[in-house]
Amino acid sequence: MKVTIYRYDPDTDETPYLQDYDFELPVGRQDLMVLDVLELLKEQDPTLTYRRSCREGVCGSDGMNINGANTLACITRVSDVLRGGELRSGHRFRRSASITIRPLPGMPVIRDLVVDMDQFMAQYKAIRPWLINDEPPPAQERAQSPDERARLDGLYECILCGCCTSACPSWWWNPERYVGPAGLLWSYRFLADSRDIGTSERLSELDDPFSVFRCRAVLNCVAYCPKGLNPRNAISRIEGLLVKEA
Ligand code: SF4
Repeated sequence: MKVTIYRYDPDTDETPYLQDYDFELPVGRQDLMVLDVLELLKEQDPTLTYRRSCREGVCGSDGMNINGANTLACITRVSDVLRGGELRSGHRFRRSASITIRPLPGMPVIRDLVVDMDQFMAQYKAIRPWLINDEPPPAQERAQSPDERARLDGLYECILCGCCTSACPSWWWNPERYVGPAGLLWSYRFLADSRDIGTSERLSELDDPFSVFRCRAVLNCVAYCPKGLNPRNAISRIEGLLVKEA
């Protein structure tokens, strides 16, 4: 099997290039994940650079673009990529005899498959991803009813892998002004939280032509979220709250 990988070392390369590797699937290992392939190739070529940590789809560090789809290498089966299988988001790969791996698009490349996520994290920080509540705390905890707790489902599971935001054309054009799908999903996670009392200030911080309304409902965020989340749904709920406030 041919595996093609985007390579770029700013210390030695003038421009990025694609490098081909011949990879033989180990006998009986049809269940290999794309991250396993990278790990085996790195034994041959220790200069190959990528991020990874948990290997379980929890840490979100190995987001990359595999045969055109942003996803996590550790939970993407080689067999699915080759045979046209489906991602958790519902996106289906095109059948292919080879695998091409590139860094997440729309973010500066530091080296090979490692991208600079500073701007992405700056937008996350800007939405103040914590509970705003300065009322005196109760003796034990700020309780929620089961219904109030259920409103956070589909929001709190985000692992900040960046697969959605880096697939978003609106964010490519305005990474400093448009919060992007992941940041807005997190924003709505706190707007929807019954324990948060910062709704008005959160909404006023988003009330401009770019922060939220730059979303054009392209839906790449939904197509590529490896956790099966729907950032566009969260964005439309924020739009509704902003319109109501107005
Ligand atoms: Fe990753 Fe999904 Fe969170 Fe976007 S919404 S950062 S794709 S887990």
